[in-house]
Formats: sequence, structure tokens, C-alpha cells
Amino acid sequence: MADRDGVIWYDGEMVPWREANTHVLTHTLHYGMGVFEGLRAYETAQGAAIFRLREHTDRLFNSAHIFMMKMPYDKATVMQAQCDVVKQNNLTSGYIRPIVFYGSEAMGLSARTLSVHVAIAAWSWGTYLGADSLETGIRVKTSSFTRHHVNINMCRAKSVTTYANSILAHQEVALCGYNEALLLDSEGYVAEGSGENIFIVKHGTLYTPDLTSCLEGITRASVIELALELGIPVTEKRITRDEVYCADEAFFTGTAAEITPICELDNRTIGGGKRGPLTTQLQSLFFDCVKGKNTDHSDWLTLVG
Ligand code: PMP
Repeated sequence: MADRDGVIWYDGEMVPWREANTHVLTHTLHYGMGVFEGLRAYETAQGAAIFRLREHTDRLFNSAHIFMMKMPYDKATVMQAQCDVVKQNNLTSGYIRPIVFYGSEAMGLSARTLSVHVAIAAWSWGTYLGADSLETGIRVKTSSFTRHHVNINMCRAKSVTTYANSILAHQEVALCGYNEALLLDSEGYVAEGSGENIFIVKHGTLYTPDLTSCLEGITRASVIELALELGIPVTEKRITRDEVYCADEAFFTGTAAEITPICELDNRTIGGGKRGPLTTQLQSLFFDCVKGKNTDHSDWLTLVG
């Protein structure tokens, strides 16, 4: 990733990709306190457009607020910077990664005096969970690792430290040949994937876990809104893993994963074992929205200019 052409917005300036470096004593590298975002830009008839830029930027600032990291830039600057990196890297579509981290002024756990830095990179990134996954669905296994408890980590923040738990879960199941992990909360209820929210369909209703221990996904919120517009009832509630086994359909949502059907959990086939009709309908509407073909949600898109 480091050795390539392009530019990265780094503390207010566009820096050549290979020179966007930071010191090995950077505090965040040692203790894991940092916050970040992941956004996608899609190709529309009017050019590249970032999906839900405002909401992702709000979540980034909320994450920093939760961790008491003082953002050195205002939201307008960070939003413009995200548009600029897409534009200046000549991307028609791609993934955008803003990250907020502490500087290298001191070691030790007191972070109050450290500088706060912001970097934003963007690159071309295709389907996250495998080339055909959006159509064929994926095989998922419940991880032995529990999702963060609300009083162990801050579940509303998208923080660097959260992802060690995600990586442990993902690598555990990937080594057994599955595409993605499902994590349960500390009481054993379904929480989310390693980098996705989860939905199931049963008798025409969409169910998703409440927001206690999963990330407040922006794709999740978009899918709920689209489902309600289609007249599909949506219920947020505690879900058990055997409810997923017996669901008619299941899918993951996320910026990277978009809407990925789940065809199997813990070796139990879900529904027909392939992308189900409601998943197909929601996926198709979602892609029409993100690509600007359906203008009902044009406010979700920000043209990079
Ligand atoms: N949960 C986790 C743990 C994630 O990493 C992500 C990806 N950001 C999501 C859910 C989905 O969030 P969003 O739809 O905002 O990308």
C-alpha cells in the first residue's frame, strides 16, 4: 500500500503517497488509541460522488469526541479534504480512509498533551468479501471471540483498538475456510461481523441487532430507510444465532461489504442457500442510490467536484 503513486491529505497538505510517513514512536501505534472512517466514492453520471460524506464525518468527529481526541480541523475542512483526495488521485470510484491519531511527543498512557494528526487516503477498491460475493453470498462462522462489551470499549466509536478483536475473529474463521466471522455480544446474542452489521429476514420482516454492542453502521441506517420505503417492516432486537440458522435470508452491510448475502452460518444453510428475494431487492435499490441512478436519495451523495 505504501509504495505507489498518488497523494494523501496529511495535516492539511497533499503529500506524495510515498512520503506520507509518521515516526515509529507514534503513540497510536503503541497503545491503539486512534479513530478512523471508511467511505466509498461511486461513479455516477455526474462524476465521482462520496456516499454519505456528512454522516461518516459526523461519526469520525463523534469517535474523536468519545476518546477525547481534540480534532485539529473542523468538519468542513475534513469533508472538503475527502473530496480533494478522491479528485487529486483521479478516482472515478474508490475507498476513502480518514484516520485520526496521536503524535510521537511522549510515551506512556497519558495522552492529554499529545498532538492530534489527521490523514486521509483514497484508493480504488473492489468487492470486499470476494469477487462474486455480492451475488453468490458468503459462508460465515461464529467466532469464539466475543464482541466488545459496552464498558470495555466504546462501541459507538469507530476506533483503531476495536479492530484487534475483529482481526482475531476474522483470522480464526478464515483459517477454517470461511469468508467472514460473526461475533456474539458478551451475553451470547448476535452482535455483528468483523467489519459489518448483520440483518436477517423472517416471514417478510427484516431484523437486525439493536445498537448496544455493534457499530452504528451508516449502511445499516441506509438499508433500514430503504426497507421501510419499500414497505418492508424492520425490527431492531436481540437475535440469537439459531434465529440466523432458521432465517429465510441473511446479509451483512458495511461500506466495504456493501450488501453481501450470507448463505451459510456455522455450516447451516440459510434459506435457499443463495441470495434471497428481499436481499436482491434491497441490494438493487442500494446500488441505484449510491450510483445516482435513483435520485430519491441524491442527498446521500456528494460530488467530489
Ligand atoms: N461494524 C463494524 C465492526 C465495521 O467495521 C463496519 C464498517 N465500518 C460496520 C459495522 C458497518 O458500518 P458502515 O456501514 O458505516 O460502514
